Amino acid sequence: MTAYPIGVEVACDGPDEQTDCPDSAAVRARFTSRTARQVRSDGRRDGWVRRRRTGRLLDLCPGCAAGAEQDGAQP
Ligand SMILES: [Zn+2]
Repeated sequence: MTAYPIGVEVACDGPDEQTDCPDSAAVRARFTSRTARQVRSDGRRDGWVRRRRTGRLLDLCPGCAAGAEQDGAQP
């Protein structure tokens, strides 16, 4: 067993409910980020957003967040 705590991973929940993130993106936590809250604040700096959808909070990577905003706008 290692003495180091396992880092928190915040993974992308995908552009919509049925679709997985095409990049399987996850926030790359900085060395000092130990909690989910700290990791999410790292992600925000890289363009990650949190969305509420049907009562759940989702984490979206920059790619999926952009896709969700242009939903159906482009063919
Ligand atoms: Zn994504």
